[in-house]
Amino acid sequence: MKKIIIAIDGYAGCGKSTTAKLVAKALDYVFIDTGAMYRAVTYYFITHQIPFQEPSDELLNQIQLRFFKVDDQPQIFLNEQPVYQWIRTKIVNENVSQVSALKNVRKFLVKQQQEMGLEKGIVMDGRDIGTVVFPNAELKIFMQASMEARVKRRFEELQTMNILMTEEEIRLNLIDRDYQDMNRQESPLKKADDAIVLDTSNLTIENQVNKVLELAYEKIRS
Ligand code: C5P
Repeated sequence: MKKIIIAIDGYAGCGKSTTAKLVAKALDYVFIDTGAMYRAVTYYFITHQIPFQEPSDELLNQIQLRFFKVDDQPQIFLNEQPVYQWIRTKIVNENVSQVSALKNVRKFLVKQQQEMGLEKGIVMDGRDIGTVVFPNAELKIFMQASMEARVKRRFEELQTMNILMTEEEIRLNLIDRDYQDMNRQESPLKKADDAIVLDTSNLTIENQVNKVLELAYEKIRS
């Protein structure tokens, strides 16, 4: 069967990664959470006390990112260390948009993301997948949801990871990250002209997955 690239972009907390992961599973595709890559680089900067300024290639080349399955879920490893819990903490949430605005960081990660899609059969979620990473992706989805729905989802998700953030802290962080992500110079968050908008405010995860799968099957068959 024909393999395609599915790009899922949108605001934080709309269920992009959860949907992308389940869509990839249903299609037997590779799932890549690019937010985890930006978060892991941010974690590296923080733990190595690197200032949030354009990094050199030499510095970036010391960062190796890989996805491995843990309990059947793809998780990110930074220089062979499992960092997938640390990258969801408050300090990373508060700094990731600054680090991801750096041109060299984006260049470094976009190149790796494009290589991952060479053979297609991939579902990738982020902010610039349909606009920059895979502008020719066969299916582009742009997810949005009400602030209330997004806060509720993120709160529940963090609780399952035992990360304590109040709903108000989450709300302020989502507003701040959206603002920074939409207003940065390099690859700002925006809908690709040919992306299909999916509002997930009143959808269950199952609904979301089914909608994306329907659209994917259409493209695969065409
Ligand atoms: O998807 P997630 O909320 O985990 O992404 C964390 C942050 O990483 C975003 O707020 C954004 O600053 C950055 N990001 C990005 N480009 C992507 C994916 C994430 O700039 N493709």
